[in-house]
Amino acid sequence: MIQSTLSIIKPDGTQRNLIGKIVSRFEEEGFEIAAMEKRQLSLREVEGFYAEHKGRGFFEELTTYMSSGPVVVMVLRGENAIDRNRQIMGATNPKDAAEGTLRKLYAQDIGMNTVHGSDSPAAAEREIGYFFPKTAIF
Ligand code: ADP
Ligand code: MG
Repeated sequence: MIQSTLSIIKPDGTQRNLIGKIVSRFEEEGFEIAAMEKRQLSLREVEGFYAEHKGRGFFEELTTYMSSGPVVVMVLRGENAIDRNRQIMGATNPKDAAEGTLRKLYAQDIGMNTVHGSDSPAAAEREIGYFFPKTAIF
């Protein structure tokens, strides 16, 4: 099934000039880049985006970090895109990430883990809508 999913290159990825490598990987994996924008997110925008994690011990660290520098938000489209993107990303903690995954290759620690990806169809729909109007997705 063709799906769309939200991907974010986090501040540690943009800071280390990894945008091209990560976007190339997605295209090589057969995804279309259906939308893409470099953005500086406000703390409030990040808090809304990660609302499901409110109350967790790492929430403040996560939201401060995600608003600390520019990110690249993208819509990836392709076969089974939601699960396949999660597989390409690898585990949340790079110590647990499989060989060849983006987080194994690039992530620094469980917080600065370089990429975000929607984890379910409902999350993908909400997260894509959070950043992109339908008219900005091609
Ligand atoms: P994922 O990004 O793999 O879906 P989660 O949704 O569980 O992971 O967490 C969202 C993000 O919060 C993670 O990608 C990571 O940046 C951060 N995070 C999760 N757990 C921790 C933790 N224990 N300490 C610091 N940051 C964390
Ligand atoms: Mg998640």
